[in-house]
Amino acid sequence: LGPQSGRFDVDHVTSCDSTNTQLLTRAERGSGAGTVLVADQQTAGRGRRGRQWQSAPGSSLTFSLLWRFPREQRLEGLSLSVGIAIVHALSDMGIRELSLKWPNDIWLMGRKLGGVLVEVVHGTHGDMATVIGMGLNLQRNPDWDENLGASYAALVELKEGLTREAVLAAILRELLAVLDVFAREGFAALADEWMRYHAMFGSEVSIEQSGLVRHGRCGGIDALGRLEVETAEGKLRVFGGEVSLRRR
Ligand code: ATP
Repeated sequence: LGPQSGRFDVDHVTSCDSTNTQLLTRAERGSGAGTVLVADQQTAGRGRRGRQWQSAPGSSLTFSLLWRFPREQRLEGLSLSVGIAIVHALSDMGIRELSLKWPNDIWLMGRKLGGVLVEVVHGTHGDMATVIGMGLNLQRNPDWDENLGASYAALVELKEGLTREAVLAAILRELLAVLDVFAREGFAALADEWMRYHAMFGSEVSIEQSGLVRHGRCGGIDALGRLEVETAEGKLRVFGGEVSLRRR
């Protein structure tokens, strides 16, 4: 993992339910910041809102990182910041055509390549433990049918010969840099960088929150990572947690 490897303690398992679930338990038991769990296969990989993250064994990179922040840290925008780290890492490996779909998806050529799931538990020492989970498709999954194949992307489509280890190392390296800025200056210092990759800026979108669907034009994000959507009734500002965004 290069010169910064001292900051990470990487553990690898062939299979587990979900790397986030495992690290949440470890966080509660006091595991330190920098603990990383990589799984070849997740049997119950999770997305937001109880959704499923699917991956065939060996075809994707699924891992979680435990990171601790002071209790007063504002965590809004953390999953957007992680998206920036992923895009920087993959760009450094020569992968172009990446974008970020608010709030937590990574797109390649306009199709879903990966997702980020941040979960928080209160630490026992006046801190907050965050578990930052990522799933990225490395290869196409033979279980994807035509529909999924048209909306999901895999890294090998753009670049042959990438190894999971190299992608993991590059992402961890970028995460260190981004998490450092986030901890010192908050998301406000990263919002402009996120905007460079904003996939839906200016698009007509629908946004669903607690069963209510609204339509409008997708704007930018603010210093807390909230998305601005211009609707007929005025400007909405929405937090990522429980919202689903679609292009119309
Ligand atoms: P959406 O991406 O539809 O806005 P979401 O952000 O709530 O939903 P996530 O939490 O990022 O969803 O991840 C779960 C969703 O990702 C699933 O509902 C499915 O649509 C999609 N998905 C699951 N597995 C994969 C995969 N291997 N590659 C790409 N997309 C996947």
